[in-house]
Amino acid sequence: MTTAKIIDGKQVAADVRKHVSLGVQKRIQQGLRPPGLAVILVGTDPASEVYVKNKTKACEEVGFHSVKHHLSSSTSQNELLALIEELNQDEAVDGILVQLPLPSHIDAESILEEILPDKDVDGFHPYNIGRLVQRMPLLRPCTPKGIMTLLNTTSIELRGKEAVVVGASNIVGRPMAMELLLAGCTVTITHRFTLNLPEKVSQADIVVVAAGKPGLVKGEWIKPGAVVIDVGINRLPDGHLVGDVEFEEAEKRAGWITPVPGGVGPMTVATLMENTLYAANHLHKK
Ligand code: NAD
Repeated sequence: MTTAKIIDGKQVAADVRKHVSLGVQKRIQQGLRPPGLAVILVGTDPASEVYVKNKTKACEEVGFHSVKHHLSSSTSQNELLALIEELNQDEAVDGILVQLPLPSHIDAESILEEILPDKDVDGFHPYNIGRLVQRMPLLRPCTPKGIMTLLNTTSIELRGKEAVVVGASNIVGRPMAMELLLAGCTVTITHRFTLNLPEKVSQADIVVVAAGKPGLVKGEWIKPGAVVIDVGINRLPDGHLVGDVEFEEAEKRAGWITPVPGGVGPMTVATLMENTLYAANHLHKK
């Protein structure tokens, strides 16, 4: 019986952050300003507070100018739009990130559309998604882009491979499918209405799971030698963090697999740093 190689997202993310940090130093040596990232948090969701803290910490580590706006949960749609407008005009800010989810009285879609596409470092604006679909990506959604970085570390040829994406959300599943298509895979997108998920998964050379359901994908579904990327982050009642894949069983069949935690999670923040440096270097003149 073989055991899969572990894809060490923590290590790859550290390498990406190091690379970004060198890019920042290069800008400073050239007399340019450091890249700037503004993070907006509305309300007091504990998970969101942790994510924002991690993002701010990563900014400090790579040498970005970082601004945090923590607004009360009673902030109105217009107040939030006004802040985004101000940050759109701010020449020290290359990237604007609005931490999701937003309180229910705020329409998240119109907020995300207000961010200038060239400052949309989360890559969620319809303009950036459209560019990815049309094979000319600029700012690409962080989690799927981070997964492509992980896949590239395996040196596996992606062209011609059967890829199955489990989950079809705007932030993970859909852009993930577009990334894999761009890389030359034959892509199947599955979701809550998909019939016969086990059969679909068992045909995959590459399977990316982002459903938010602990243990949804069984080890026995995995094609021997496949690459298994687990995006899910689920906290069990006993406090443990697990993914969407039955790790122990899948590990026995897969060729490569990401752990949870320590797989995809750290890549999302590192890729956000990469996107912000990209925006500063390529999309903003000043
Ligand atoms: P979501 O709830 O928006 O979307 C879930 C998707 O899974 C939907 O398209 C749904 O149709 C599909 N789905 C649900 N049950 C299914 C089933 N039985 N079979 C097939 N598909 C099914 O979630 P999301 O925002 O895409 O996040 C998914 C998971 O990834 C969550 O656990 C989330 O915490 C995690 N996540 C991790 C990172 C990271 O950085 N590692 C980033 C974003 C999301």
